[in-house]
Amino acid sequence: MSDVRSLIARRLDDVVEDLALLVGVETPSTDPVLLSRGAAEFVPWVKERWRAERVRTLGDGPGAVIQVDVPGSLPGTVVLLGHLDTVFDAGTLAQRPFSVAGGIARGPGVFDMKAGLVQAVHAVAALDELGVPRPSVRLLVSADEEIGSLGSRSFLVDAAAGASAVLVLEPGGVAGTVKTARKGVGLWTVTATGVASHAGLDPEAGASAVHALAALTTHLVGLAAPSVGTTVNVGVLTGGTRPNVVAEHARLELDVRARTMDEASRVSDALAAWRPDDDRVRVEVTGGWNRPPWSEPAPELVERARSVLSSLGVAFDPREVGGGSDGNILAAAGLPVLDGLGASGGGAHAEHEYVVVDDLPVRIALLAGLIAGSPSAP
Ligand SMILES: [Zn+2]
Repeated sequence: MSDVRSLIARRLDDVVEDLALLVGVETPSTDPVLLSRGAAEFVPWVKERWRAERVRTLGDGPGAVIQVDVPGSLPGTVVLLGHLDTVFDAGTLAQRPFSVAGGIARGPGVFDMKAGLVQAVHAVAALDELGVPRPSVRLLVSADEEIGSLGSRSFLVDAAAGASAVLVLEPGGVAGTVKTARKGVGLWTVTATGVASHAGLDPEAGASAVHALAALTTHLVGLAAPSVGTTVNVGVLTGGTRPNVVAEHARLELDVRARTMDEASRVSDALAAWRPDDDRVRVEVTGGWNRPPWSEPAPELVERARSVLSSLGVAFDPREVGGGSDGNILAAAGLPVLDGLGASGGGAHAEHEYVVVDDLPVRIALLAGLIAGSPSAP
């Protein structure tokens, strides 16, 4: 894949220009108008670069998925999975316009994951230009990944069915990073409704919602098992009105991460079984496992990444991470998945988000090598 790397290195200015184009249209997950503007910019650009005729939109509204197919000469279909949405609100671009200085590209969503989309398009184009045989490629781009993929997940699962490999364009880390497994992510909100009373005159008449959720917090924290990767975070705990009032209302928001389904069920079963000590407090629990654990790396893809990187003279840096992605959903559907194939850089979801421009040729060559050399369909 060193030919791909050299080709991309020669046209790095074009790649950066494409990145500027995508970052230049803001695409917050929660803004349908901007998202469709982003898609209107993205689709013709991909079509032109790939000379692709088959572009479809699966579904409509916030869960819509763009599907672009380019046939190949080898058997099987490789799915490239990305998302167009970012966590940044409209107006961020005006404060932090796209820029490149000292080999570092910045701008809202540059790392997560507009650079990944640009890499995917250039990887396929480079293979074709160099005449490297490859399987068919299906690019799937959702627009609700950053808000949990509730609308897009069924389209992604259907459209990826039977793929010989799923390569996820989420950000990497350094030049040789790939992500081989991700924890599952569970999100819950618990609301408690008790009985208000005067804390001094009439304490027995009250039933504290705050005390109930404080007890639940202690219980939940006790369910964490860091040695097997299970973490519990009560990130929000609010309730009550005044110190001398027994609290009628309280609310808790919970984030749980687990490496295995067994651990995921252990925590969610314990939450479901919990009851407040005072049965006058009513509790309502909403939420669940937003993305299932992805615990089994795809060995053939991991090996392929190792060998492509070694042929490029780049140190292999496989990682298992706590953050979920749509890779979790497709791994749970039984597909071989490799993730974190986007740019090298850092600061995802933060103001200091950045992409290392000089690593783009290596990252694109890695992706190209995985596409060309993916095991064919079973
Ligand atoms: Zn992302």
